[in-house]
Amino acid sequence: MNLTATQSHPWIADRANRFDSSGIRRMFNLARQLKNPVNLSIGQPDFPVPDAVKAAMNRAIAENKNGYTSTEGIPPLIDRLQSRVDQQLGQSDRRVMITSGTSGALSLALMAMVNPDDEVIYFDPWFVMYPALVEMVGGVSVPVRTTSDFQIDLNAVENAITDRTKVIIVNSPCNPSGVCLDENILRGLAELAARHNVCLISDEIYSLFVYDEPHHTPASFNENVLVIDGFSKSWGMTGWRVGWAHGPSQIIDTMAKIQQFTFVCAPAPAQWASLAALETDMQPQIDHFRHRRDRVVAALSPAYDIVSPGGAFYVYPRLPWGTGEEFMQAAIARELLIIPGNIFSASDTHFRISIAVADEVLERGVELLLELAKNPG
Ligand code: PMP
Repeated sequence: MNLTATQSHPWIADRANRFDSSGIRRMFNLARQLKNPVNLSIGQPDFPVPDAVKAAMNRAIAENKNGYTSTEGIPPLIDRLQSRVDQQLGQSDRRVMITSGTSGALSLALMAMVNPDDEVIYFDPWFVMYPALVEMVGGVSVPVRTTSDFQIDLNAVENAITDRTKVIIVNSPCNPSGVCLDENILRGLAELAARHNVCLISDEIYSLFVYDEPHHTPASFNENVLVIDGFSKSWGMTGWRVGWAHGPSQIIDTMAKIQQFTFVCAPAPAQWASLAALETDMQPQIDHFRHRRDRVVAALSPAYDIVSPGGAFYVYPRLPWGTGEEFMQAAIARELLIIPGNIFSASDTHFRISIAVADEVLERGVELLLELAKNPG
């Protein structure tokens, strides 16, 4: 993959030059320049952290629970998640650890398993962190295209597997498409990973944000699947940096060993607050997001070609005209911020909007998008 180097300082390591973040940074800069943008580019919930969770955070700080925790996390949080996982999957060698966000779990997993030149398969469109992290650990990215409705073609995966394939990363519901993979496809992918002795990492950070059917995990079909998840999106705690991973005990032990010498542990008070989060029902917020999803998909169709997202909080319409850059510039001229799809894809065919914004902002965004569909340039 062509990841352009932007750094030239002699001190900078090759691994840091193999990827850049200029696309995303440019978006942030544009957002800062606009006075009052209709910002549909943000990937975090607009609801506040629930009061009970804020109170638990404050309590933990007041009770001086501010020091290091054990690397794997505070025992009550591990136990709570472990019993949930045991109840759900009932697999004897599946162990939980707490990480610094889902990003932390993903970084540890790749550091634990990917040798230089090992191949890592992930799906196009992808979450922006996947290519960068694969490059950072010296792996080789093997993006596999999804079908026109963003499902996975198992034959394409089978064809992409070589004797260097080490890991497959799957993300359902997906950032950026919002699409939930069919249960049969997840089963097929889990079985395929087992057949080829490849680790399947399932990024389930949007597992609570499902609107049409229950969330499915490939770990139900393969006891060696490594699941990563987190509190960031589900409870609106993106800045608190708590996630978790569960999988085969030897992989978890290795990730914990690496965490010990990198992140050390997830923030202590935020881990105590996470216990309260697990007791907090987010269904009203999820129902509100479902309502927004329905509203936006109905309003933008048929002006836009949209695969209705079954989860997460993104909509990923096809570009009605022009390139992603041209479309984004026209949007910016109307003070509207969207993300062109070539940040998440080898194709320049779609763009991402977030529905995790106030209803009035979303309504204004929809109006502007409907104007834009009709008026190229
Ligand atoms: N995976 C996906 C698919 C995401 O969209 C995000 C956040 N944008 C993450 C992982 C990382 O989340 P965090 O580190 O905040 O838990």
